[in-house]
Amino acid sequence: MKIAVLPGDGIGTEIVAEAVRVLDVLDLKFEMETALVGGAAYEAHGHPLPDSTLKLAKEADAVLFGAVGDWKYDKLDRPLRPEQAILGLRTNLGQFANFRPAICYEQLVGASSLKPELIAGLDILIIRELTGDIYFGQPRGKRVAIDGHFPGAEEAFDTMRYSKPEIERIARVAFEAARKRNKRVTSVDKANVLETFQFWKDVVTEVHKDYPDVELDHMYVDNAAMQLVKAPKKFDVVVTGNMFGDILSDEAAMLTGSIGMLPSASLNSNKQGLYEPSHGSAPDIAGQGVANPLATILSAAMMLRFSLDQAEAADRIESAVKSVLASGLRTADIWSEGTTQVGTREMGDAVVAAITKKTITG
Ligand code: NAD
Repeated sequence: MKIAVLPGDGIGTEIVAEAVRVLDVLDLKFEMETALVGGAAYEAHGHPLPDSTLKLAKEADAVLFGAVGDWKYDKLDRPLRPEQAILGLRTNLGQFANFRPAICYEQLVGASSLKPELIAGLDILIIRELTGDIYFGQPRGKRVAIDGHFPGAEEAFDTMRYSKPEIERIARVAFEAARKRNKRVTSVDKANVLETFQFWKDVVTEVHKDYPDVELDHMYVDNAAMQLVKAPKKFDVVVTGNMFGDILSDEAAMLTGSIGMLPSASLNSNKQGLYEPSHGSAPDIAGQGVANPLATILSAAMMLRFSLDQAEAADRIESAVKSVLASGLRTADIWSEGTTQVGTREMGDAVVAAITKKTITG
């Protein structure tokens, strides 16, 4: 097994270093190779995703990614900006399924802006289709309107579209994921208004016939947005298109209140995945040793579970994180009265220690 380690920019290098230490201590047989990506790669090679980095990522079973970007690159031409590296990796690796879990750890219930009883024990998984929908549909552009409310006026347009195989494969990913959880899938659409999403609903319903052990329900996206803040615990797996998923996954992530805790994964049909924290490179705190490494450590756990078939090792990381939180250690972003503030390195140390202790005591 081979892991491509791409720390990137800003806090990326600090948090990935801790995830690598956690992986090392598990004593599993895999090779890790590190390469530059994002602004760091632009500085060294003149491109945010150099050929050598892309080649390494393609050959690996999984990519562990930190974060890219810095405001100082905002004036570069768009193809040279650090963030383009993520799009380039996803496209080249064919990663069409984005997994964004939203888990509320018991000890962090206070970090959410929702009432504790609404989110205590929350554990939902948003699966977003990542390579289709209105974000990629053609034609798109600007033109002079020939009809509509203002013929002759300048207008812009995009095209929403999904093919049957695109919907089928993301629906299968969702049903398979639900089988490993609470066996419930909510498919989110806007079938009442959009042809694309009536088709989405029909295809998901058809695929569901192959998964009779999983419960399926359908929900309009406006209602889903409401239910996520009203009664989020009623969801298990949510599957939806690219644009609705973009919005709902951020909404779901914020239910937990702490961006430094949220892992994510993007997978292709060979289970080859890119694993990264949901947050960015946080230039405001980079180099200070205060960033929370737990989202990246939890992304490494997802990598073990989804791409490397090491579910047991993934469980060990996740329970180590829970026990570290239970012991009262917190980085600044999740600190609250009565807990102990630690830096990036100390948080990594604590997770490593919790894993080692469990290994020794069995
Ligand atoms: P950000 O997620 O980097 O930071 C938002 C806020 O959250 C900041 O105050 C930051 O200090 C804090 N934060 C983020 N991660 C944290 C962590 N692990 N521990 C503690 N605090 C944390 O978003 P931004 O400030 O809007 O963007 C900064 C740069 O990151 C930009 O260049 C942006 O394009 C890039 N970005 C990259 C990715 C990615 O690599 N996937 C995603 C989002 C943004």
